[in-house]
Amino acid sequence: MRLSRYFLPVLKETPAEAQIVSHRLMLRAGMIKQASAGIYSWLPLGYRVLKRIEQVVHEEQQRAGHIPVLMPTLQSADLWQESGRYDAYGDELLRIRDRHDRDMLYGPTNEEMITDIFRSYVSSYKALPLTLYHIQWKFRDEVRPRFGVMRGREFLMKDGYNFDLTKEDALHAYNRHLVTYLRTYERLGLQAIPMRADSGPIGGDDTHEFLVLAETGESEVFYDAEITDLKFGDRAIDYDSVDQCRAVLEEFTSRYARTDETHDPALFDKVPAERQRVARGIEVGQIFYFGTKYSEAMGATVQGPDGKPVPVHMGSHGIGVSRLVGAIIEASHDDKGIIWPEGVTPFACGIVNLRQGDDAADAACEQLYGALAAIGLEALYDDRDERAGAKFATMDLIGLPWRITVGPRGLKNGVVELTSRRTGESEELAPEAAIRKLADIYAPHL
Ligand code: ATP
Ligand code: MG
Ligand code: MG
Ligand code: MG
Repeated sequence: MRLSRYFLPVLKETPAEAQIVSHRLMLRAGMIKQASAGIYSWLPLGYRVLKRIEQVVHEEQQRAGHIPVLMPTLQSADLWQESGRYDAYGDELLRIRDRHDRDMLYGPTNEEMITDIFRSYVSSYKALPLTLYHIQWKFRDEVRPRFGVMRGREFLMKDGYNFDLTKEDALHAYNRHLVTYLRTYERLGLQAIPMRADSGPIGGDDTHEFLVLAETGESEVFYDAEITDLKFGDRAIDYDSVDQCRAVLEEFTSRYARTDETHDPALFDKVPAERQRVARGIEVGQIFYFGTKYSEAMGATVQGPDGKPVPVHMGSHGIGVSRLVGAIIEASHDDKGIIWPEGVTPFACGIVNLRQGDDAADAACEQLYGALAAIGLEALYDDRDERAGAKFATMDLIGLPWRITVGPRGLKNGVVELTSRRTGESEELAPEAAIRKLADIYAPHL
């Protein structure tokens, strides 16, 4: 993309309404525009990041055999009457009436609709296990929408639902989801710690929230510092293996890590004092086993191996796709702007032409731009006739992890400059060498 032809409405001033750094930077970098309270338009740069995150989420779900679908945003109230949630959900549910006086709602989640799809088509245990998911806009009429996309009213969520014959199978689905989530967050450049969460009236410990540590997080968290040393990394995993998935769950949930909702001071005291941590976190996902709650209420049964009907065991699993954009920025920025991890960056690198209009500089930039595209890396080429300082400031603000600076003086010696946004370190090297280096850096992300 050439910046002269792009739509990147960066702001010079810091918007007064934004209380936290990610919200400020998303507005300043021209990523979003508020449409009304808690509802945002995604401008080109923000939209690219949102799509990247969506892509990673899709890939990791499908790697585990989960099947994508797309359900509508508007739902009929009838299904929610069946489950009993139409009245129970409260004021977060946006109720809508159509011209025929039918009660509708803008879905805050999709347990009812997916259970209805399941019961319409599946009648035998032989179709199990089955996990369906979608990435779709949700609406929750939050009392206090705030912090930009972190607590919106309209927000993008991945929600997945597993259907299994037995509790044991459903717990495997739960563990499998935990593994997919660990992989997803790591690919996004985040550490998200699974913490035991409150399962409400259902009881048991079969729900975990994933939290990204950040001072601006809305949850208070208590954990054993050892947990931050755990990395999933690129280990191979067989998602069908009950033992392998359970082992990962055990590894990542055996140390103390809880939110304020489930915190147990007596248990926390057993963690050696020097490893006890109290901090704040952002909830970026949650996995949940809830058994036959919806299948019983809505008659989602299958014929078991003995011919008898059994209600299926279910769970639901959510990732806050749009919230993640803010969470990544909270975890990765400095006083100049955003620092995108390679896994989500809107462009692989920036190209800054120090002397627009200089034949050699223009030609070298075009050459680099084309060569990067040829290996699947899209650059944002700042081809405007602007001062170098202004170009650098824009690149730093929008946070592309790498910048190639091209100027007549360097070209005389056959070099360009490659700069890391994260460390600020630069090296001079031949244009081909810069391309090779970026190819290596991005190889795991292509
Ligand atoms: P919270 O505690 O922050 O209100 P939640 O527990 O109500 O979230 P879930 O029902 O678990 O949310 O939804 C799955 C994920 O969707 C959450 O982990 C979070 O990342 C995201 N999410 C929930 N509410 C919002 C919101 N208002 N704006 C943006 N993302 C949200
Ligand atoms: Mg909520
Ligand atoms: Mg929550
Ligand atoms: Mg939750």
